[in-house]
Amino acid sequence: MKIVFATNNKNKIKEIQSMLPPSIEIISLESIGCHEEIPETADTIEGNAIMKANYVTEKYGFDCFADDTGLEVDALNGEPGVFSARYAGEQKLAEDNMEKLLLNLKNEANREAQFKTVITLNLKGEQYLFTGIARGVITLEKIGDEGFGYDPIFRPEGYKETFAQLSLATKNTISHRGKATQKLISFLNQNSN
Ligand code: IMP
Repeated sequence: MKIVFATNNKNKIKEIQSMLPPSIEIISLESIGCHEEIPETADTIEGNAIMKANYVTEKYGFDCFADDTGLEVDALNGEPGVFSARYAGEQKLAEDNMEKLLLNLKNEANREAQFKTVITLNLKGEQYLFTGIARGVITLEKIGDEGFGYDPIFRPEGYKETFAQLSLATKNTISHRGKATQKLISFLNQNSN
C-alpha cells in the first residue's frame, strides 16, 4: 500500500516509515511529481489539514495524509491558531511572531495555551482525522535554543523547561505532533491489509 505524506521534508518521511511495516510505503510529494505549493487557505487547523490531503488525493489520485499545527492561546480566544506561521506577517519569522505574542500577553495573568496538530488521512475512499494536543503556558520571555517556531516561549504542562530547552526525543514524546503521529501510526498498523 502506497500513501503520500504531503510534505517535502525527507526526514519526516523516513521517521514515519521506520515506525510502519514494509507493506505500507510512505512516499513524498516529489516522487508523485507534485512540485507546486499546496494551498492552505482554510480558516481552521482542521480545514487546512483536510485541504492539503484532499488536494493530493483529488489531483493526483493517491491515498494521502497531511498535517497542520497551530498555537492556541486561551486569553486570546485561540489566536494565533491557524495563523501561527504568519502571526506577525507574511515573512513568517519566528522571532517576530514570538515578540508579537509576548506583547499581546503583556498584562495578561492567564497565560495558558495549547499546541494542536491535526492529521488528515485519506485512505481507500474514507477520511480520518487524528488530533494531538499539548497544553502548557506562555512564558514571560524566551528561554532555550532548541526546536523552532514558538518553542522558546512555550512551557509544557508538568515541565520546568520550555520546548526549546528539551531534546527533540523528549519533545516528541509529549508534543502535539508526536501524539497525533502516534495515533496515525497505530491506525495504519491496524489497517495495513
Ligand atoms: P505547521 O502547520 O506545522 O507548518 O505549523 C504552523 C506554525 O505553527 C509554524 O510555522 C510554527 O510557527 C508553529 N509551530 C508548529 N509546530 C510547532 C512546534 O512544535 N513548536 C513551536 N512552534 C510550532
